[in-house]
Amino acid sequence: MPDTRNAPDYQNREYQDFYLYNSATHRKEKFVTHTPGHIEMYTCGPTVYHFAHIGNLRTYICEDILEKYMRYAGYTVNRVMNITDVGHLTSDADEGEDKMLKGAKREHKSVMEIAKFYTDAFFDDCRELNIKQPDVIQPATGFIDEYIKIISRLIDTGYAYSAGGNIYFDTSKLNQYYIFNAHEKDDLAVGVREGVEADQNKRNSNDFVLWFTKSKFEDQALKWDSPWGTGYPGWHIECSAISLKYNGEYLDLHCGGVDNAFPHHTNEIAQSESYLGHPWCSHWFHAAHLNTASGKMSKSKGESEFLTVTLLKQKHYDPLAYRFFCLQSHYRKALVFTWENLSNAQSAYQKLIKKIAALRPDSDSNHISAQEQEILSQYREKFIRQVGNDLNTASGVTLIYDVLKANISDAAKVNILADFDQVLSLSLIEKSAELREREANQKTTGAGGYQITGDADADPGELEAVNALILQRYQAKQSKNFAEADRIRDELKSRGIELTDIPGGAVWKKL
Ligand SMILES: [Zn+2]
Repeated sequence: MPDTRNAPDYQNREYQDFYLYNSATHRKEKFVTHTPGHIEMYTCGPTVYHFAHIGNLRTYICEDILEKYMRYAGYTVNRVMNITDVGHLTSDADEGEDKMLKGAKREHKSVMEIAKFYTDAFFDDCRELNIKQPDVIQPATGFIDEYIKIISRLIDTGYAYSAGGNIYFDTSKLNQYYIFNAHEKDDLAVGVREGVEADQNKRNSNDFVLWFTKSKFEDQALKWDSPWGTGYPGWHIECSAISLKYNGEYLDLHCGGVDNAFPHHTNEIAQSESYLGHPWCSHWFHAAHLNTASGKMSKSKGESEFLTVTLLKQKHYDPLAYRFFCLQSHYRKALVFTWENLSNAQSAYQKLIKKIAALRPDSDSNHISAQEQEILSQYREKFIRQVGNDLNTASGVTLIYDVLKANISDAAKVNILADFDQVLSLSLIEKSAELREREANQKTTGAGGYQITGDADADPGELEAVNALILQRYQAKQSKNFAEADRIRDELKSRGIELTDIPGGAVWKKL
């Protein structure tokens, strides 16, 4: 039975048609499943050698909304994800350094310590961004027997060969190797492109390693016995094996970042279909990059561009403002990240929460009339139709504003916003309740919506006194009286108050 724990409200809902772009056919298609009403979904997980940057996390946000949307639209979903803790080289093909080994060396820890630490860090980030955990999460190191089983059959059926001690997949045995794009052979010399020596054992330049016994990594930490000698699996085999085990032989939807399409997903298809002897996955979903002003975001460009959820929080951005930022663009379009863009998204998000906090559902005696119920179900249908048009999250966000403007009771508005938020996961109701509570307890607002967040441990008298000073400083700055503003900052400092300016306000705490 599929796991439906995450969708208690939707189990009786009849599933609705929706449309999604399929990278394998290069067009938007009506989503068709192998089993009516049920979706087997696979997501490539993180390689746990470092923190995820917010560009990686954009992909997980898109996949999270897609999963929640499908449940909302009445489907049951079984979502599986791997954790890569072995075999992923820096080139994504068979060249470069071993990422896990690189991480372990950098931090003078063992590979398993690194894997544990960064797996936990990844799920911490997911929690901050309201990304739900997949139903099944499995580490690559747990399935060596499965890899051996698949590779053995590929050798037996002539799809794989041994050379120089390693086992390779023979791409010349396929009728069609390129699925997602029309690469020319020359484009595929990944090693050459990255200035790394190409592997001379390969019969064809795009053949890829299924199992390494000989490699340049003398100090490879994790090795296992196999029929071909002690070694470790190539990167691509793990996703095929884990998906076959937990999703079954027919996969409805495979997801990942656009840079996974080649070679990773292309190789997954090659080995899975050769192993199964029938088509494997019908629908491929790829989320576009998050770019910085200087190009694609990457971990290797140095500290200044390594943007993590922790960094956002240090700079007093709400991780959900980043989620909101991602939702406003389409997943197939590259999104440009700048601090200014994020500030704009944060202030729009805060304004939205404020609007919702101003609703008074209780004063409407909580009753939603039959007529309003009808209106709400029309909104629900609209949401399913609009978001279900190739995961148009921006139109889902627009519907929130439409609801806020609608001529219906506050109780009805809160009801439908909570409903949409099961997909969008912006914590609309929780955040607005928090804001109401904060407003009740603190004097926080100055002219122009300037917002002060005080130390949660301060007593009410201190809160009022410090907030008043901060407001005075803000007003002094507004009237360009910088000497007075500095004097107040010094006074706060001498009282042991640490003040931080954030977009649209300030936060303070006692040292
Ligand atoms: Zn994968």
